[in-house]
Amino acid sequence: MTTLSGEIDIKDALKLALDWHDHVPVSDLPRLAARAFEPSGEVEFHFEILKGIDSLVKLSVKAKATIIMQCQRCLQPMPVSIDTNTQLVPIYKEAQAKTLDPAYDPLDLTLGPVTYQDLLEDECLLALPQVPLHDPDTCQAKLPEPVEVPEVKKNPFMVLKGLKDDKTGK
Ligand SMILES: [Zn+2]
Repeated sequence: MTTLSGEIDIKDALKLALDWHDHVPVSDLPRLAARAFEPSGEVEFHFEILKGIDSLVKLSVKAKATIIMQCQRCLQPMPVSIDTNTQLVPIYKEAQAKTLDPAYDPLDLTLGPVTYQDLLEDECLLALPQVPLHDPDTCQAKLPEPVEVPEVKKNPFMVLKGLKDDKTGK
């Protein structure tokens, strides 16, 4: 059985025709939990092996979650929804990376094993905003009050002059 802490083995995944749909608590994903204001909720994920007509084997990773982050303006919690869908081509040798069509995202396995959890966390972290901020309308931060411009009192003589001009203009 494939587990999140298990290393990604593409040959194995191919044999199994991997199509793995499950969910995991955010609190079980330490790197993601560290970015969250509170590690609540779950990440729904889907790993799938795809073999296209180009005979390239791809690992599809989908992740869906609502992560509670901290608004960097008012410092209050704010929910951030993520919904990612990435298809990765496993790369075992650097030479392979050089010939990969730039349209594809590589899954770099040249530096050693990657676990499903590593990959899922990477995908989620990439989808989160660097600086989470509420919409200005919903943010609780006290924005600086607009500076009040004192109303310029109309000069009564100018008003009279205007009336006079009106009369003469007709
Ligand atoms: Zn805010």
